[in-house]
Amino acid sequence: MDKNYNPHEEIIKIIDRAAALLGLEEKDYIQLKYPERELKVSVPVRMDDGSIQVFEGYRVQHSGIRGPYKGGIRYHQKVDMDEVKALAAAMTFKCAVVDIPYGGGKGGVTVDATKLSKGELERLTRKYTALLYPIVGPHVDIPAPDVNTNEEVMAWFMDTYSLVNGQLTLGVVTGKPVPLGGSLGRREATGRGILLVAREIAKKMGLSLQGATVAVQGAGSVGGTAALLLHREGCKVVAISDVSGAIYSEKGLDMEAIITFLRAERGRLLKDYTAPDVARISNEQLLQLEVDILIPAALENAIHERNAPHVQAKIILEGANGPTTSAADAVLEEKGVTVVPDILTNAGGVVVSYFEWLQNLQAEKWDEDEINRKLEHIMVRSFHDVWNMAEKAETSLRMGAYMLALDRLVTASKLRGITF
Ligand code: GLU
Repeated sequence: MDKNYNPHEEIIKIIDRAAALLGLEEKDYIQLKYPERELKVSVPVRMDDGSIQVFEGYRVQHSGIRGPYKGGIRYHQKVDMDEVKALAAAMTFKCAVVDIPYGGGKGGVTVDATKLSKGELERLTRKYTALLYPIVGPHVDIPAPDVNTNEEVMAWFMDTYSLVNGQLTLGVVTGKPVPLGGSLGRREATGRGILLVAREIAKKMGLSLQGATVAVQGAGSVGGTAALLLHREGCKVVAISDVSGAIYSEKGLDMEAIITFLRAERGRLLKDYTAPDVARISNEQLLQLEVDILIPAALENAIHERNAPHVQAKIILEGANGPTTSAADAVLEEKGVTVVPDILTNAGGVVVSYFEWLQNLQAEKWDEDEINRKLEHIMVRSFHDVWNMAEKAETSLRMGAYMLALDRLVTASKLRGITF
């Protein structure tokens, strides 16, 4: 990662710009520039060879103004406090954009999860959970999956929390397996949200999704699902990538076959996928393809000052959190590329997390149609709220989204009376 790239400073810049557009005074929102609470833990793990390794873990609770802290847990070798702080702040704004009653939080462990055995991953998760125990809970802070964590990790988290708590506590995490308090539709929710946003932006821009060309960076639960659902919608997904590189087909990739291949077992990578007419390209080449829609759905800082001038997509749908730097944003705006921001585009995940939590608290089980209908309602409404705000203020969709969220946060804060 870039030495002078600091994800936390990036989001503060955005918040300041949104505040200026809203005509806020700094005292109205200064608290949102600082996380309410930061926890750093050391997580000792017994490795399979008998040695003990100590990993660094974090949980940041950015804002509880609008509700309990909410946000995922990331396992990645690049996780550090600045990244977790930025991601926690993004969750506060994301939950406010879609108007669900949560604040924002995020957690992470600095570890290359792909190098751990399943047993090591489980011991790491259980120890990390125990260390977070004093500050999480179904009405306090509710984690969920993020990069390199999944339903299984959430099940271990829930089990450990419940054992310490002395009672089954399903509502302490979301993104659990369906037979263990998980919600139908949660696994696909972020990807489905991206599809819903794609439909709305396409209508606004007079683009037909039938045959629209799409490139997706990332083939995990966000990128992989978005690619599959857009393929089913009639789009031509010409490229997709993962950590092993990207594949490309001018005719369009068979996303059904690719996703079936990747999900068949843990650790499967695109480099081992073969099919006729499929070429290998680099991740950078993928980002610079001439396509209608580009979906960065991997990590932050994917589109930066250096590659932004070469981006040829018409629309960017941010599946990842923070994939576009503010310097790149300026370049893209100048070029006339429409960027639909992360805090709206990828909010489908946390929206269905909210439905999962509601089901857990009320001991209910909703059917998938109902969940997808409710998700669609929230995503479409939020898209139009953001669009209208941006239009009214004659600004970008990113600024429109942040203005909408900031306005809701400042209003709630004033009503609570904690600003003064
Ligand atoms: N990690 C996801 C995100 O960044 C989901 C968070 C959640 O469901 O709480 O939005």
